[in-house]
Amino acid sequence: MTTTTTAYAALAPKSRLERTTIERRAVGEFDIQIAVKYVGICHSDIHQVDEGWGKSIFPMVPGHEIAGIVSEVGPGVTKFRAGDRVGVGCMVDSCRTCENCKAGNEQYCTGGGMVGTYNAIGKDGRPTYGGYSRAIVVDENYVVRIPDALSLDIAAPLLCAGITTYSPLRHFGAGPGVKVAVLGMGGLGHLAVKIAHSLGAEVTVLSQSLRKQDDGLKLGADHYRATSDPRTFEDLKDTFDLVLSTVSAPLDFAAYLSLLKTDGTLVNVGIPEEPISLNLFSVIIGRKSLAGSAIGGIAETQEMLDFCAQHGFGAEIELIRAEQINEAYERLVEGDVRYRFVIDADTI
Ligand code: NAP
Ligand code: ZN
Ligand code: ZN
Repeated sequence: MTTTTTAYAALAPKSRLERTTIERRAVGEFDIQIAVKYVGICHSDIHQVDEGWGKSIFPMVPGHEIAGIVSEVGPGVTKFRAGDRVGVGCMVDSCRTCENCKAGNEQYCTGGGMVGTYNAIGKDGRPTYGGYSRAIVVDENYVVRIPDALSLDIAAPLLCAGITTYSPLRHFGAGPGVKVAVLGMGGLGHLAVKIAHSLGAEVTVLSQSLRKQDDGLKLGADHYRATSDPRTFEDLKDTFDLVLSTVSAPLDFAAYLSLLKTDGTLVNVGIPEEPISLNLFSVIIGRKSLAGSAIGGIAETQEMLDFCAQHGFGAEIELIRAEQINEAYERLVEGDVRYRFVIDADTI
């Protein structure tokens, strides 16, 4: 039996989100039903509502930073029980048999690609709807456990912003003796600072201004510089082993590549809506790498949550009621958020 639940949806590209009713599939053999408690607002939600990355599926219920409580489990479920504290991130399925899925890199599934938590078509042929909703049904293999040490509201943003920064920081070796620059201190960026610091790296924030400097230093940055000041680029030339860009807008990548040491890597997780053009001398001189990274795998997401719990941190959040979603979107586009909007799902 399908169930109905309330949700906030965009009915057309660029439209405001409004309260509506959606259907969730019946809880299948390996499914769990989750009572959503908190859901973060990621800049990717806005890119997709706006069709900034190409065509989207409407109506769209965004939301892929979901924290909640298991309310029902299917007969074949072995990992979770009713009452468990759980999270769902950006994907709810993948082929499970390709090399990447088997290696725990489900986000890079080559057997048809991962199934997004929203704005995608599920294996049942129906559109997926995300977490701006009171309930969701997900296969247990795409659900993670939220450690008791983390309250659900500050844990929600870890499901996308946390894993998207943790995965490349680990992959590219952030740790003691490694100089890391975090470019952009928004939802992803502020977690990148906390994670890189907790991994033992020397962390510099590169933000457009010094407006958030006090916060950056409190979150664990060792240095904080404004990219609007040309001296930043002179002073920090050839400095970093790793630059992690979390910026949602197009950038002068050559300028940021110049901040890398020889053999350094600029890994980009921000997804601007326009393509970039780059003079390749900026990677050739100094044998530099320009890389990208998408979220992280399911096991790695669990590892990240356990890491954050062990180090005693979640996201810095501004909790909102569902009727404030449209205002929050406007503020996020303006850069007016410290540092993640999280919706109290009981108000949906
Ligand atoms: P966000 O909270 O808006 O943060 C983006 C930050 O980028 C802003 O806080 C700002 O930092 C900086 N910024 C914005 N416009 C800029 C400009 N014109 N020039 C320079 N810096 C600018 O967004 P978010 O939720 O963290 O997401 C960031 C990006 O990552 C988005 O494009 C999102 O779609 C993408 N994303 C990718 C993945 C993935 O898997 N790769 C996953 C999640 C999100 P300062 O104020 O400090 O300058
Ligand atoms: Zn996201
Ligand atoms: Zn696969």
